[in-house]
Amino acid sequence: DVPAQNGKTYIIATDTTFAPFEFQDANGNYVGIDMDLIRAIAKDQGFGIEIRPLGFNAALQALEAKQVDAVIAGMSITDERKQTFDFSEPYFESGVVMAVAADSDIDSYEDLEGLTVAVKTGTEGATFAESIKDEYGFTLATFDDSANMYQDVIAGNSVAAFEDYPVMAYAIEGQGIALKLATEKEAGGSYGIAVAKDTNPELLNMINTGLANLQSNGTYEEIVNDYLGSDT
Ligand code: GLN
Repeated sequence: DVPAQNGKTYIIATDTTFAPFEFQDANGNYVGIDMDLIRAIAKDQGFGIEIRPLGFNAALQALEAKQVDAVIAGMSITDERKQTFDFSEPYFESGVVMAVAADSDIDSYEDLEGLTVAVKTGTEGATFAESIKDEYGFTLATFDDSANMYQDVIAGNSVAAFEDYPVMAYAIEGQGIALKLATEKEAGGSYGIAVAKDTNPELLNMINTGLANLQSNGTYEEIVNDYLGSDT
């Protein structure tokens, strides 16, 4: 959490496990690109924050109910969500991929016929899977967080999962999760920070100004490089 320098303190909701954007380090502290970014924005703009790792879908619901002030959770900016939330400028490009067990032969949506696929409630990956499941004849198993979704595929209950490309790639390459990418990524929205619609222009303004400052003074790039290395 970041204490307020003179302004208000805002409650920021996030996902529980979504590395490299938000996850717990060995000491149980929340770290990741989103966590470093929102702390740096708060410091830059002089407001305070309290982080609440609620889970992705719960974070969106809490924001809609105005129980929290903002969500930063690798949250994609979509037209549908713009009906309910105001978004900051985009800060990271994403897209959805299908991942399968490391030893699986599945490498296309056609291979999913008659099988079960794991998705995370309320995500773009879930919406994408939902949109093609009748065409390819598979059923969905839903999970509240990415860790349990991956585990269901590793355990062999589900044969595939739909997840954001940068998160899936990091889990496989950076964390040794026993999955592999099975498809090219589908076009998806970029990540933005969300605030409740038409209720918090002051916070949104500070977020956008802070983000622009961090992008021009090199801090944004440093944060991303800390987690992804300078070659990405
Ligand atoms: N980017 C995806 C979405 O907005 C997934 C976010 C997440 O799982 N934290 O739906």
